[in-house]
Amino acid sequence: MKIIMLGAPGAGKGTQAKMIADKYGVPHISTGDIFRANIKEGTELGKKAKTYMDQGLLVPDELVVDLVVDRVKNPDCAKGYVLDGFPRTIPQAECLDKALSEMNDSMDYAINIDVPDDNIITRMGGRRACVGCGATYHVVNIPPKKEGICDRCGGELILRDDDKPETVKKRLDVYHEQTQPLIDYYTKKGIIKDVDGTKPMDDVFNAIVKILG
Ligand code: AMP
Repeated sequence: MKIIMLGAPGAGKGTQAKMIADKYGVPHISTGDIFRANIKEGTELGKKAKTYMDQGLLVPDELVVDLVVDRVKNPDCAKGYVLDGFPRTIPQAECLDKALSEMNDSMDYAINIDVPDDNIITRMGGRRACVGCGATYHVVNIPPKKEGICDRCGGELILRDDDKPETVKKRLDVYHEQTQPLIDYYTKKGIIKDVDGTKPMDDVFNAIVKILG
């Protein structure tokens, strides 16, 4: 089962991708998480990615594509995987398709989590991320047991630079311009499935499970 999660930043892709990965026993591959891990470790890739991420811009395609294509060739991806945050541009999608077709393979589903912009801006202001392990929370929707502290590792919870309001607006512009065209791209391929992302987290997940079976 090979799944792409589509949707604006803050639509809930990451949360749903993790839930899908747990239920179906496939890896969750988040390019945002990979970049954040690289930033934390101070790698060259992390340093390059950070300059774009902090401005709400996309990291250039050439820094992303090989990383994902190599990752999906890992043996743990044999049964499938959930791509979260990739592809984000038409050229990324074309590179992915090309790499998969060379392996006689293709994606099964592109799940589009639909949430209006106004809703996204309110949501992202409440998002908190752990400085230690990267786990994400929301002050209203998914609060940690203890305010400001990560349930998983006890790390401090912060508002990520890329979740700050001015950056969120920029990220939404970038989404509409560069990522939204992927909805058309996967509609033409016949694999797009829309879900209403304004519903509570569990309802969104149930709608996805109905699609995936
Ligand atoms: P995310 O956690 O998926 O919202 O990603 C955070 C940031 O990482 C994005 O705003 C981009 O700057 C960068 N990023 C993640 N995935 C990609 C991608 N596929 N292409 C380009 N930039 C990406």
